[in-house]
Amino acid sequence: MLDFASLGADFFAEITTQPLENTFLIHKNQALKSQLQLDLDDKSLLKIAAGEQKFAGTQPLASIYAGHQFGHFVPQLGDGRCCLIGQAQGQELSLKGAGQTPFSRGADGRAVLRSSIREYLCSAAMNGLGIATTQALSLVGSSTQVYREQIETGAIVLRTAPSHIRFGHFELFAARGQVAQIKQLADFIIKNYYPDCQGKNRYVDFLNEVTKRTALMISHWQAQGFTHGVMNTDNMSILALTLDYGPFGFMETYNPGLVCNHSDHEGRYAFDQQPGVALWNLARLADSLASLIDAKQAKSVLEKYQNYLVKYYSKLMRQKFGLMEKSDDDNLLIGDFLQLLLQHKKDYSNSLRQLSEPEKLDSNADFATWLKRYQSRLEQEKNANRITLMKQINPKFILRNYLAETAIRKAENDKNYAEIGVLFDLLSSPFDEHLGFENYTFEPPDWAKNLQLSCSS
Ligand code: AMP
Ligand code: MG
Repeated sequence: MLDFASLGADFFAEITTQPLENTFLIHKNQALKSQLQLDLDDKSLLKIAAGEQKFAGTQPLASIYAGHQFGHFVPQLGDGRCCLIGQAQGQELSLKGAGQTPFSRGADGRAVLRSSIREYLCSAAMNGLGIATTQALSLVGSSTQVYREQIETGAIVLRTAPSHIRFGHFELFAARGQVAQIKQLADFIIKNYYPDCQGKNRYVDFLNEVTKRTALMISHWQAQGFTHGVMNTDNMSILALTLDYGPFGFMETYNPGLVCNHSDHEGRYAFDQQPGVALWNLARLADSLASLIDAKQAKSVLEKYQNYLVKYYSKLMRQKFGLMEKSDDDNLLIGDFLQLLLQHKKDYSNSLRQLSEPEKLDSNADFATWLKRYQSRLEQEKNANRITLMKQINPKFILRNYLAETAIRKAENDKNYAEIGVLFDLLSSPFDEHLGFENYTFEPPDWAKNLQLSCSS
């Protein structure tokens, strides 16, 4: 039974999944499977994960939502290729790529292997980094041909999250003037996912909590160099989970203006725009809650976003630099280091990881001067575990584009899926040393320097 189904027919359409041909299980997340207490062997898991069999007799459904895409309001979107198939241990199970729904808007309802591998691996990477995200339980391949810029094959990711509700769900009902449904949806979310917001000012408290959690998620993205790529309001989770992996990217060479979505010509969703975009998106959510929250109150909640963001982001950055004691010049010290990375085209994650082994840092005079300042600042630090703690927040392994691309090419060209398992293990515990896998920390080889990602998936 899906809790979401209790909302009733205004919120979704019941659907029938359309299985792919010759499906096979490429990989599964064993830890997640145990956590969900799914007592299924691989054969039974495949049937469910491929949409060939219902999960515990549950009727699959596609939910309806709207959204602002690249700044423009689209009055009706919805799960065009996703569907909820069930619930286990309080987590919704959702299939991505299991066929058309009433909300497919003429598209095929499919997801290709390439983008499914990327989503599968990035969910594991984000979870490994401790960033709130939907998770991926399994990756299923098939022989079904799917047409994008070229012929590819269809795949299905089984995603899990406590809820897949987006800001866009509220926007749909707001645009239609359906205030009863807005209230119903807000009450449902508060009761199930924000139980601490059930007091007198429940809707204001709820907006405040979403704002706070969104600021926390964005702070993690910024601290770990993650660019989402398509921060449309229909991709913003009401639980502030990283949701809908498309043309995302981890920053390699430090570049705050990084745009990882080749189709984003204006750089609307560039790395350094993300904090501002999230606030803009929260304002669209607040707009759609206008029937429940007084405009002045909504405004004062949104005004807190900046404070939350600065608080969380500085805390994470201080941890990354191992600066536990407070000192006035810390922001300058951190800012100057980032400036050096920019100037000398250095790898963001590797450089930060090297802070715990400064002898590995660039020996260039600029870095040497900075390092002297840093080392004298470190004399104020008292925690004997500083280096260990720094290594627990500066990852050794990130999902570099060329690593994903290598796994994709092996899968597509040679039907060799082993690389996916290797990356899954490294990315699931990205702070561990994984001795012998140093080559997975290398900066991109020449062939991968200009890899381009589009929305096509
Ligand atoms: P996305 O860019 O993946 O977040 O998708 C935006 C909207 O388009 C959502 O409503 C998706 O469900 C829908 N969509 C994307 N790709 C497909 C597809 N191949 N078939 C049907 N709907 C799709
Ligand atoms: Mg989406």
